[in-house]
Amino acid sequence: MRMRGRGRVCFTLIAAGVLAAASWAQAPKSEWPKNIQLVLDQTKPLKHSRGGRLPLYLWPAIGAGKLDDAQALKLVRLLDERGVGLISNWNQGSLDACLTETLPVARAQKKAGVPLNIHASSLLSSFFDGSEATAHIDDKGKPFFDKTFGNAKMGCPFRLEHRIPVIRDRVRKFAAAYAKAGLPVGFIFTDWEIDGPLEWNHAQAASQRCVVCRKHLPQVDDFLAYQHEIRRLRSMVQRKAYAEPVLEHHPGALVGNYAMYPHNGWRYWYDYFEKYIPGQPALRDQRALYRHWANDFEDTGYTFAMPVVYPWSWTWNWYDFEPGDYRWFYNGLLVASNAGRHTPANVPIIAFVHWHTVDVGLSEREGEAPAGAQPARQMSESTYQELLWHMLLRGTDTFFLWCTEKENAKEIQLLHPVWAAAQAYGEFLEKGVPITFEVPSKPGTVVSGLRLGRRVLVRRTDFAGDKGPVTIEVAGRNLQVPALPGQCQILTLGE
Ligand SMILES: [Zn+2]
Repeated sequence: MRMRGRGRVCFTLIAAGVLAAASWAQAPKSEWPKNIQLVLDQTKPLKHSRGGRLPLYLWPAIGAGKLDDAQALKLVRLLDERGVGLISNWNQGSLDACLTETLPVARAQKKAGVPLNIHASSLLSSFFDGSEATAHIDDKGKPFFDKTFGNAKMGCPFRLEHRIPVIRDRVRKFAAAYAKAGLPVGFIFTDWEIDGPLEWNHAQAASQRCVVCRKHLPQVDDFLAYQHEIRRLRSMVQRKAYAEPVLEHHPGALVGNYAMYPHNGWRYWYDYFEKYIPGQPALRDQRALYRHWANDFEDTGYTFAMPVVYPWSWTWNWYDFEPGDYRWFYNGLLVASNAGRHTPANVPIIAFVHWHTVDVGLSEREGEAPAGAQPARQMSESTYQELLWHMLLRGTDTFFLWCTEKENAKEIQLLHPVWAAAQAYGEFLEKGVPITFEVPSKPGTVVSGLRLGRRVLVRRTDFAGDKGPVTIEVAGRNLQVPALPGQCQILTLGE
């Protein structure tokens, strides 16, 4: 999801007087922006080195403001001690002004031997710029937009070719400037969502009305054919305008976008701007309708996968599991296992995660709230942390925390300790092979693990109170897994 507007706090003179009287008002002013200071305050230095593995990414660790080289190096090292990667923004606007701000951080990251991390959403905004040249065209030659994606003016997927060089040039300028300065980009992501070709909501109906769409895609009435073509175009614009210009200058970069990851042809979650239209192909699971998803990852040229594991409020009413926590856990594990199973081992998985229920209200998802739908119950902290462990033991390489400003502290308090503790098992995280992607269809015993030769790092979580050992098959042998709540265990496979 996109970052919300950042709240601003204004103090009146009276309030300022009250603050001056409070003891904490005398605390030294931080030399870092508020978001960065919060990350430092909410995390501790790692006990176990992260080695050469990817850092932990946190939305509040984006944007360090203007720092000189010495400050940048100090900050990069402070965050690296905690395993956190500092991210710089590549923004539209003045290239020079943006580079003046980001290059000290990049130089510091190179000096410290950590990845140079970039957030580039601003550069991709937007292919559909609202101009008539991007609109659909009806039978009378009148331009029109699909307005079923909130405020966005979604145009014709076959009329945005001219936008590709505009956006590619923005990306290329930054990528070239970094390359010229000898600063190799390590990780670059975008949160590019409601823009470009999309098949959901009433996009297909808009294309059916459009003479350009009908000319290019005679099978426009066939949803699967429509989806295939729309996703092909969506992947193509991401590759040409973003992945290629980055990789051209930084061949070793991890480049990717929110919600883009290899999968089995089905998507187990809905984004906040996506609605299901009756008749579209879907798999039913209790009240959930998992949508058919085209193979849209490979053609992007992306070099890392970015699944999204959030407790979206509408997920709560899809299932009737008790304990209710299993509804969140089950859906999250379906998404993470799908990415884990289908992503090649040489493509890192950097999963977006979030704990607070993402609640945009049932009414906003018209037609999906079943009769008697209940307000979602917040997932427990312990279940969320168990889910994070199981994700790591099913191929997730690292996490990317998304959250709103008011959620920052709590989200980091839950996520960082799990990620930090997992570093004790670095060898398994780096070289271990997931032993299972199975997701139990009812609350019970869930086992995940990474195998390294005959040793298996295992996590077992019980949702139905089982305490006895369970036996699972691993690499053709039986492995007995005792209950050990809240802990990992390293077991050995028999001869
Ligand atoms: Zn069209």
